[in-house]
Amino acid sequence: MTATTSWELDREHQDFRASVRSFVDRQVRPVVEESERAGRSPAALLKEMGSAGLLGLAVPEEYGGGGGDTVAMVVLSEELARASGGIAVTALVTGYMATPHIARFGTAQQRARSLPGLVSGEKIAAIAVTEPGTGSDVAGLTTRAAPVQGDGEAAEGFRLDGTKMFITNAGIADVFVVAARTSPDGHRGITTFIVEAGHPGLRLGRPLRKMGWHASDTREVVLAGCVVPGDAVLGTPGRGFHQIMSAFQLERLTLAAMGLGHAGECLRAATGYARDRTVFGAPLLSKQVRSGAIFVDSADKAARFITMCDAFNVPLIFLHDVPGFMVGAAVERQGIIRHSAKMITAMASAEVPKFSVILRKSYAAGYYAMCAPGFGPRASIALPTASIGPMAAEASVNAMYARKIGEIGDPGERDAYIGARLAEQRADINLLRLASELVVDAVVEPAGLRAELIARLAGAENWTRGPQRRHHHISPV
Ligand SMILES: Cc1cc2nc3c(=O)[nH]c(=O)nc-3n(C[C@H](O)[C@H](O)[C@H](O)COP(=O)(O)OP(=O)(O)OC[C@H]3O[C@@H](n4cnc5c(N)ncnc54)[C@H](O)[C@@H]3O)c2cc1C
Repeated sequence: MTATTSWELDREHQDFRASVRSFVDRQVRPVVEESERAGRSPAALLKEMGSAGLLGLAVPEEYGGGGGDTVAMVVLSEELARASGGIAVTALVTGYMATPHIARFGTAQQRARSLPGLVSGEKIAAIAVTEPGTGSDVAGLTTRAAPVQGDGEAAEGFRLDGTKMFITNAGIADVFVVAARTSPDGHRGITTFIVEAGHPGLRLGRPLRKMGWHASDTREVVLAGCVVPGDAVLGTPGRGFHQIMSAFQLERLTLAAMGLGHAGECLRAATGYARDRTVFGAPLLSKQVRSGAIFVDSADKAARFITMCDAFNVPLIFLHDVPGFMVGAAVERQGIIRHSAKMITAMASAEVPKFSVILRKSYAAGYYAMCAPGFGPRASIALPTASIGPMAAEASVNAMYARKIGEIGDPGERDAYIGARLAEQRADINLLRLASELVVDAVVEPAGLRAELIARLAGAENWTRGPQRRHHHISPV
C-alpha cells in the first residue's frame, strides 16, 4: 500500500479497513466476552490474525510480513479497538510495539529466528521498558545490564537485574524486548536485549488487575541474575533510548487510533441505543429532555475541545443541526446556559480557521451564537435542505400564541388553531430560508460536501497565527 497525504483514505486503505472490519466482526467480536473473563486473548485468535496478515505490516516481506504502511497500521488499530481494547492492545503490542524493534534493529540472525513466528502469530512478543519507578522518563530506568565474562567456552554476555512493571503480553509472550542500563550515562547508557520466555532469571508476576483492557495480560516482570549471551543485544549498545524513542512514534499513533476506535464504537452504541430504545411510546432519542441532557454534557466537552484545537492550531469545522436551545427549564437550569455560553465563547475567541456547515435546522440562539458570521467562520456552508430562521416553527407558535392557545378549551379546536399557525410559520421560515442564502457562502449538495470541505481546508492549510498573544476566556481543563 502507498502512503496517502490527503484528508481521506485512498481506495486501498478503504478496502483494507473493510477487510479488517469484516475480520473483526467475524473472528474478534464473538470471543470478546470470553477473553475479557479469561484475562487474555485467545492464542488461536492471534494465529488467525497472523494468517490474515494483520500482525506483520511492520515486518519486511522476506520474513513473511509486509503489505502495509503506517496508515494501514492506524486503520488496523482503530478497527480492532472498536471490538475490544484488550484484544487490540495484545495484538498491537506484539505486532507494532515489540516486533518492530527486532525488525528494525535486529541482526539477520535475530530477525530470522523471531520474525516469521511473530508475523504468523505462532509467537507473541512483549516490550519491557517501564519500571515501578519510571514510565514516561525512559532515560531514568534502573534495570542493570552488567557485562559478565565468558566462562570457558561460553560467550560473553550480560547479567540483567531489575523489575519491569505493566508489561503487556508478559504472561503469553515468547520473546521480550528488554531495556536495561549498560552505563550510568543517562539516556546514552541504555541498551535493549532480546530475552526469551522461560530464560533462567526471568520471572513473571501475577496478572495485574486493571480498570479495562481485561483481555490483555499485564504483569510485572522480574529480572534477577538473568544472564543473557552477548548476541542478545538488540541494536547498538548505548543506543537503546534512541531506538525506543523512534519506535514510540508508531506506539503513540496506534494507541491514539485505539482511542478513536473506542470513541467511534461508543458513539455508535449510544446513538443506536437511543434510537432503538422505545420509552413512553417513542424512541429515546426523540425525547427533548434526553437530547438536552446529552447537549449539556457535550457542550461542556465541546468548549474544552474547541479551546484545545485553538491552542494546537487545529482548524474547526462546526456541523450545525440545532433548532435552538429551548428544550425545557429544567435542562437549562442544569447547565445548558452555562455550558453553551462556554462553548460560544470558545468558538468566538478561537483564531484557527473555522468553518460552519448547516446540515438541517439552524434557528435562534443556535444559529446566531454558533453558526452566524458573528463568530467569524471562514465559510458558512449549507445543505440545500437547511433552514435558517429566528425560531423554529413550534417555538414561534408557542412563544407568540401561548395566551390564545391557552384560552381555547376544546382540544380539537385548539389543535386546528395550532396547526394553522404552524403552517403560517413554516411558510415564513421557508421564506427566511431563501433569505438565509445571503449569509451562507455556498449551498452544497450532500454528496459534494466532503470535497468542498477538503478544498476549503486545503485553502487554509498554510494558515499561521498572527503575532498577537492568545487570550482564552475559558480554561481548557
Ligand atoms: C495497561 C497498561 C499497559 C502497559 N503496557 C506496557 C508495556 O507493554 N511495556 C511497557 O514498557 N510499559 C507499559 N505500560 C506502561 C506505560 O508505558 C506507562 O504507564 C507510561 O509510560 C507512563 O508511565 P507511568 O505510569 O510511570 O507514569 P508517569 O511517567 O509517572 O506519569 C504520570 C503522569 O505525569 C505526566 N508526566 C510525566 N512526565 C511529565 C512531564 N515531563 N511533564 C508533565 N507531565 C508529565 C504523565 O503524562 C502522567 O499523566 C503500560 C501501562 C498500562 C497502564
